[in-house]
Amino acid sequence: MSIPDGLPDTRTSLRGLTAEGHEAWLIRGIAGKLYRCPGCHDEIPIGTDHVVVHYVRRAGGSDHHHWHRRCVAELLAPELHRVTGVPAAASSRDRLVERGRRPAGRRRPR
Ligand SMILES: [Zn+2]
Repeated sequence: MSIPDGLPDTRTSLRGLTAEGHEAWLIRGIAGKLYRCPGCHDEIPIGTDHVVVHYVRRAGGSDHHHWHRRCVAELLAPELHRVTGVPAAASSRDRLVERGRRPAGRRRPR
């Protein structure tokens, strides 16, 4: 599945499912420090507009990684299914960590 052009942005994040059934939330971020992209293993310089990929695991638990926008579009997004736009306000890190405290079947829809 490809992701809509320009997304995620400051107002809209994306949520999809991995092949294993984990939620993958794609959130627009600005790098506050140097990160290394898991897609290409190259650096994401400070100040770069990029994508925070926050996984909420099916059995519970969550973790996140910082990706280049290009690498998300080319490498990660094609592996996701049921990708939909969600309000950025619903995808704050605190909310997603909280969401991961319950297994998938016991979560609220969003
Ligand atoms: Zn990359």
